[in-house]
Amino acid sequence: MINYGKQSITVDDIEAVVKTLSGDWLTQGPTIERFEREVADYVGAEHAVAFANGTAALHGAAAASGLGPSDLVATTPLTFMASVNALRYVNVSPLLIDISPETLNLDVANVPIDIDGLMAVHFAGLPVDLDSLQSRPRVVIEDAAHALGASTPSGRVGNCAHSEMTCFSFHPVKPITTGEGGIVTTNNNELAEYLRRFRSHGIVRKPDQGAWYYEISDVGFNYRLTDIQAALGLSQLKKLESFIDRRNELADRYRELLSGLPIQLPPIAPKGFVHGYHLFVIRVRNRRTVFERLIERGIGVQVHYVPVHHHPISADIQIISSGLENCDAYYERALSLPIYPDLTGEDQQFVAETLYDILV
Ligand SMILES: *Cc1c(COP(=O)(O)O)cnc(C)c1O
Repeated sequence: MINYGKQSITVDDIEAVVKTLSGDWLTQGPTIERFEREVADYVGAEHAVAFANGTAALHGAAAASGLGPSDLVATTPLTFMASVNALRYVNVSPLLIDISPETLNLDVANVPIDIDGLMAVHFAGLPVDLDSLQSRPRVVIEDAAHALGASTPSGRVGNCAHSEMTCFSFHPVKPITTGEGGIVTTNNNELAEYLRRFRSHGIVRKPDQGAWYYEISDVGFNYRLTDIQAALGLSQLKKLESFIDRRNELADRYRELLSGLPIQLPPIAPKGFVHGYHLFVIRVRNRRTVFERLIERGIGVQVHYVPVHHHPISADIQIISSGLENCDAYYERALSLPIYPDLTGEDQQFVAETLYDILV
């Protein structure tokens, strides 16, 4: 089976992980700090705070943001539910804004100017153009689970040029992996402090009152990443640029191979943007049949995503008055083809030939 996405692990990753196992620290030791420093430096942010997974990172960001039930927060219907759940964890029920068919991201032109917050999701690895927001909401959080390594004319995603915090995921199908893992980047010292407390039980150490002494003032969680995972993250980070290059190369090749088919190809990155190509989503008629035929032939396609407003949990969700037609039209036809750094040229050729077979 060729999966739609997959980790890329080599012997140097394995050696890095094994080395931590014979060290003094298995969790929350010096490797976490190094990983945080290197991610922050890579994206161009002041701080990075590692979390147990991307969802925990989003929860931390939502809690740190101070957004609450009285705030109106916009987001996209085309995302994994974790983006919306993070808002629900802090009692925010979001307003869903339709996507732009040009970018498949939330259409920034439709974000109401009186909105309090925005959860911007960089769908498939193509960054939302936050620079073109009419006005900047009080809080902008970026869900960049798909977009580590992507960039805009304002720099790398994660530098928080137009946001308070950016959240990443290190799940195996994401740009780099730590097994499970996540991180929040920010340029704000207080937010970074809050995030560190939040992921570790709310603990604040007060050594002036004794080396053992600490206080807890807010509810916290155990959302820590381990040093074992951070070692994998550091090793993977060295390869991120080559992973993104390879994903772009595969995307270009798909565009050539599939150009004769009656399908819609994914959006192209605008000038000055680098696409992360976490996903390569085509749009095709009779999606269900095409999906099933591809699976039968060992091609593990997927659909990203069942839109947020289609799930029972969203029965009471607020939807922008102009509706979510673009998202619904997209969902009818969406099909994610395999794309990951280790996908071979032959695998890709096979995917293309099978599609021709099914569609022509
Ligand atoms: C993967 C993903 C998450 C959640 O990350 P986990 O590490 O799996 O918890 C959140 N948002 C989006 C858009 C994702 O793709």
